[in-house]
Amino acid sequence: MIGCDCAVCRSDDPRDARTRPSVYVTLPDGTAILIDTAPDFRMQALRHRLPRVDAVLYTHGHADHVLGLDDLRRFNHLQRGRIPCYGDPQTMGELRRTFGYIFDHKTPAGGGLPEIDLFDVHGAFCLGRSEVIPVPLWHGRRLVQGYRIGSLAYLTDCSAIPDGSWALLDGVDAVVIDALRHRAHPTHFTVAEALAAVLRLAPSRAWFTHICHDLPHAATTASLPDGVELAYDGLSVTFEVASIVRQ
Ligand SMILES: [Zn+2]
Ligand SMILES: [Zn+2]
Ligand SMILES: [Zn+2]
Repeated sequence: MIGCDCAVCRSDDPRDARTRPSVYVTLPDGTAILIDTAPDFRMQALRHRLPRVDAVLYTHGHADHVLGLDDLRRFNHLQRGRIPCYGDPQTMGELRRTFGYIFDHKTPAGGGLPEIDLFDVHGAFCLGRSEVIPVPLWHGRRLVQGYRIGSLAYLTDCSAIPDGSWALLDGVDAVVIDALRHRAHPTHFTVAEALAAVLRLAPSRAWFTHICHDLPHAATTASLPDGVELAYDGLSVTFEVASIVRQ
C-alpha cells in the first residue's frame, strides 16, 4: 500500500509484496491464456518470463484488472499476430472506452498500438483444445466473470456467488478465490466468506487472492484449514484439464 508502514508493507517475506491480481494458464496443447492485464502486467511478464499470450480473458473492467493492456503489444510483435480478448459485453464496452485510442481509426499508428480483437462471451467456448466456462459472480451490485478451465476455477472480485453459478463450479478441484481481508467490504469476500464458499465447493486445494495488507502471508496461512492458503506472486500450481477433440 502506497505510503503505509504497517508490518505487512514493511515485511521481508517476499510473499507479502503483492502486485495486482492476474493469472497465466498454460493448457496441455501449449495455448497460453492470460486472465486480466493488471497495471503490473509488464513487470509480471518480465519477472515470470512469460513467453507468449495466445488469448486474454477479462473478469471485468476495473482499473486494477485492465490497465496493463497496452503491453500486449510486445506479444503481437513476438507472435506476429493479433490477440483475441474475451469478456462479458459490459467489460468489452469498458475496454473500448478506457482504451479509446486503440479503437479510434484516427490514432496515428506510428507509436504502435496493441492489435487485439474483442469478443463478447455468452457462455462456454473453446480455447485451444479446452473448454472455458465463464462463471457470473456478484462484485457488489454488478456482475463480473470468473472462469472455469477444467478443474480450475478463478473467482476474483466477488462478494457473492449467484445461485445459478454453483452448478458451473460442480466438481472443481483447484479454486482461486477473492479474500480481501477480515473486515467486511461491499464488493469483496472476507476471509470467512471465502472460506464458506470453499467449504461448499469442496475442492482439494484453494488459494485466496486479491489480498490487502491487513493479511500477513505466513500468519494468515497458518490460521487456515489444510489445503487452503493465501496465494502469492509467482505461485505456480497444476490442475487437470480435459482436451476436447474437435470434429
Ligand atoms: Zn500496509
Ligand atoms: Zn473490481
Ligand atoms: Zn480488483
